[in-house]
Amino acid sequence: MTRVICVIGGKGGVGKTTITSNLASALADFGQKVIAVDTNLTTPNLGLHFGVHLAPFTLHDILKGKSKLKDSIYIHPNGVNVLPASMSIDDLEGVDVSRLHEITFSLKGKYDFILLDGAAGLGREAVSGIMAADEILIVTNPDLPSVADALKTIKLAERLGKKIIGVVVNRIRGKDYELTKEEVEEMTGYPVIAMIPEDKNVSKAIFSKTPVVNYSPNSPAALEIKKLACSLLGIPFVERRVPRGFLLFDKLIRWALRK
Ligand code: ADP
Ligand code: MG
Repeated sequence: MTRVICVIGGKGGVGKTTITSNLASALADFGQKVIAVDTNLTTPNLGLHFGVHLAPFTLHDILKGKSKLKDSIYIHPNGVNVLPASMSIDDLEGVDVSRLHEITFSLKGKYDFILLDGAAGLGREAVSGIMAADEILIVTNPDLPSVADALKTIKLAERLGKKIIGVVVNRIRGKDYELTKEEVEEMTGYPVIAMIPEDKNVSKAIFSKTPVVNYSPNSPAALEIKKLACSLLGIPFVERRVPRGFLLFDKLIRWALRK
C-alpha cells in the first residue's frame, strides 16, 4: 500500500525540502520505492536538492496538460524518483494547484512512498499539498515562531481529517534558548519523532545537489534522518557507518564528474 505523506510546517526555511529529499533518499536506501514531489509551485526548489532543477518537463507541464506524468519523472542515481516543479516564473500562468490530488492518485500503487514537499504558509499550495496526502509530517525549528506556525498547519490538517504522524524538530544547535523536545510536544500536542541537528554538511550537500544522506552518510544530520526513515518503516535503527575509504572514492568520482 502506498503511503502519501506531506512534509509541511507553516514557516518557510525550517527544512521541509531538506527533510523531504533526504527522507526519500533514506527510504530508498532501505529498499523502498519512493517518489518525491514538489508541491511548491511558486517557489519550488526540490529539483535543486536532486540536481534536476533544469528538467525539460515538470509538474507545471502536467498540471497544464502539456506533458505526461511519466515524462516529468526523473530518476536520481540513489533510486529516488523525483517530480520537480518548474523554476521559471513564466510557467506559473494557467496552473491549477488544486489538481495535485489527481497526480498523487495516479501515482498510488506504483510506489511504497509518495513524499510531497509542502509549501510554506497556509495558502492554496499548502492546502492542496495537505489535501493530496493521507498523512502529514510536521517540520519545525526549536523556536517559538516556527512552532506557532507549525501549530496552525496542524490545526488545518486536523480539520481536513488528515493523520499527523508526528513532529520533526530540525536545526537543533543545543542552545539553552531553544525549545526542548518536551516543550514542542506540549505545544503541538504530537510526539517529536526526530531531532535533526544543525549540520554544515546539509548546506554542503545542497551545494553539490546531492541529498546529505548520500553526500555525507555518516554526518549527524544524515544519521538522524536515517533514524526517522526507520521509525516510519517500523524497523530498528542500526548505525552502519560507511567506511572512510569508500567515502573518499565517492568524493573523487563526484569531483571528476562535477559540472
Ligand atoms: P524549507 O523547505 O522549509 O523552506 P529548506 O529545506 O529549503 O527549508 O531549508 C532552508 C535552509 O536551511 C537550506 O538552505 C538548508 O541549507 C538549511 N538547512 C535545513 N536543515 C538544516 C540542518 N539540519 N542543518 C543545517 N542547515 C540546514
Ligand atoms: Mg521548501
